[in-house]
Amino acid sequence: MKIRAAVLRERHTPFTIEEVELREPGHGEILVRIVGAGFCHTDVLPRRNGYRSVLPLVMGHEGAGVVEALGPGVTDVEVGAHVVLSFDHCTHCAECLAGHPAYCRDFWQRNLVGRSDSDPLRAVDAAGEPIGAQWFGQSSFATHAVTASSNVVPVPEDCPLELLGALGCGALTGAGAVFNVLPVEPGSTFAIFGAGAVGLSAVMAAAAVGATRIIVVDRHRSRLDLALEMGATDVIHPDPEADIRREIRREIRSLTGLGVHAALDTTGVSALITGAIESLRPRGVLGLVTAVADDLVLPGDVLATGRTVVGILEGDAVPRVDIPRLLDLWRAGRFPIERMMTTYPLSDINAAEADAASGTTIKPVLIPGEAA
Ligand SMILES: [Zn+2]
Ligand SMILES: [Zn+2]
Repeated sequence: MKIRAAVLRERHTPFTIEEVELREPGHGEILVRIVGAGFCHTDVLPRRNGYRSVLPLVMGHEGAGVVEALGPGVTDVEVGAHVVLSFDHCTHCAECLAGHPAYCRDFWQRNLVGRSDSDPLRAVDAAGEPIGAQWFGQSSFATHAVTASSNVVPVPEDCPLELLGALGCGALTGAGAVFNVLPVEPGSTFAIFGAGAVGLSAVMAAAAVGATRIIVVDRHRSRLDLALEMGATDVIHPDPEADIRREIRREIRSLTGLGVHAALDTTGVSALITGAIESLRPRGVLGLVTAVADDLVLPGDVLATGRTVVGILEGDAVPRVDIPRLLDLWRAGRFPIERMMTTYPLSDINAAEADAASGTTIKPVLIPGEAA
């Protein structure tokens, strides 16, 4: 079938909106009409030199939409169902079976390459040339996506479907880190570095579980104001001229005494990460959810007091368990993701990317059905 999609052809050129031929859903797959797709920082990784994904490629991995057709063998969703698309996983390796699909042995191949040798003609352009359409198993910067049925989560029809795509990655990453990995509990103290979509989702999740001190660090004042409205109790706006590592440690110690029970870094900035580790109390845990930009060099004794640093992919979540949980919180008014979102027609994807990079928009959401 013919679809419209935002295609990245070269690492440093804008996206182009093109007509693409997408094949029918195969065994275990479904066709989804995309009604909204969040723009995540991971969607710019294919622009990096040396990155493994193959261009041209349709990105987009926070899609939400309506099931339009089922391939053979699909029994877990129905035509017409509202679904959130999430990350792809094999469902049968040891980590998938143990309830940790984000650590699927095939995670990289299924999510970050964008195409597979066994399915080269999944999507082709007007000239018949292959286009990658398997980014996170979905490639949802398009009017339609073909994806594995195991990669979607059915959601109730009374929720604002176009805004729910971020539950499949960004919101799941921040909230999942809190629910599934970090020791954020009633009465605990928690510091979050970076108040983007992942950081703010962690703030809302921490408030929901009853953490009493939720400290947010960011360089944008407006984001800190929003963090306070979403449940943060304290904010730190570092002086760009100061020694950021020392300043973080001093401010967090002055707020908490011994330091925080848990921290989450969403920035990938090594000076902030070192400051975050030094701000943990004994046995405190720091989660890292972003690729660290350079080598992380730590003082030799910084972990001596039982501190832990742990990498976390996709909030170590099981999407069909954690996304319904987030929707219940949303319904209760405790997970207002819409407050960090701005919608754009799909044809304005380049503006959405620029606004996300400059920080003027926290979470752009692309609407494929809307004309510019
Ligand atoms: Zn697996
Ligand atoms: Zn993402």
